[in-house]
Amino acid sequence: MGLLEGKRALIFGVANDHSIAWGIAQAFHREGATIGLSSVESLIEKRVRPLAASIGSTFVEPCDVQDDAQVARVFDRWRAEQGQLDILVHALAFARRDDLDGAFVDTSRDGFALALDVSAYSLVALTRAALPLMSAGASVLTLTYYGAEKVVSHYNVMGVAKAALEASVRYLAADLGPRGVRVNAISAGPVRTLAASGVAGFKGLYGEFRDTAPLRRNITIEDVGGAAVYLSSDLAAGVTGEVHYVDAGFNVLAVPTRE
Ligand code: NAD
Repeated sequence: MGLLEGKRALIFGVANDHSIAWGIAQAFHREGATIGLSSVESLIEKRVRPLAASIGSTFVEPCDVQDDAQVARVFDRWRAEQGQLDILVHALAFARRDDLDGAFVDTSRDGFALALDVSAYSLVALTRAALPLMSAGASVLTLTYYGAEKVVSHYNVMGVAKAALEASVRYLAADLGPRGVRVNAISAGPVRTLAASGVAGFKGLYGEFRDTAPLRRNITIEDVGGAAVYLSSDLAAGVTGEVHYVDAGFNVLAVPTRE
């Protein structure tokens, strides 16, 4: 029997088959979960629906997380189709390309607000919308990056957004814990995805990480999927408010050096 047998999961953030959200969807499917996917409208027909079909998922709904009406619509449809929600996955972020290059000090007011709205506030909005469908034992999972804690060149406003996201995980965990709903984050090492391609210098960072991380390799979306299964399953019933690293050990190094 799979670790997620009988659980119903709604996953936001599949853009294509390189997406971290897709690694999570595949792992959840393998462990027996019923899965729904939501993504931005422009990606639905060409990218997301075919992927959903490959894991037997028919719930595929567009949603721009900046729009409260669209958020409400996805959860209304989930309620009509599935009734209950056991697992919410938030695997999305956005910042303007200009703000992921150059100096952080040049971040515009608009660019700052946009990055924080899409990448951090959306976790709060999605969790609030999901709550009426959740009961004790349900869990929420988001994706973050080490740039929330330490300065990573060019990560800039996204680092600030991830810091807000990680703090939101802790506040949500405290709010929802008494209802038995858990909230956690996975801090993933660099993965070659559409979102990552917007960060200037990503290629160099990716290679440097591989050469210096304790496991001497990059991590994969399958690595993240495995940890997501654990955090979303009853195996992690006593775990909430955590940021769990899936980064080949990179975060334990004070000074990453090559041999
Ligand atoms: P991705 O490009 O595959 O996924 C990003 C998703 O965000 C896309 O599906 C996109 O449609 C969605 N999105 C952007 N704006 C949106 C909006 N307004 N409404 C709804 N959806 C929106 O990239 P990914 O790397 O898989 O990103 C998933 C998560 O993982 C992000 O939170 C990212 O910051 C995080 N993360 C990525 C890495 C990495 O190196 N790739 C490392 C650590 C954490």
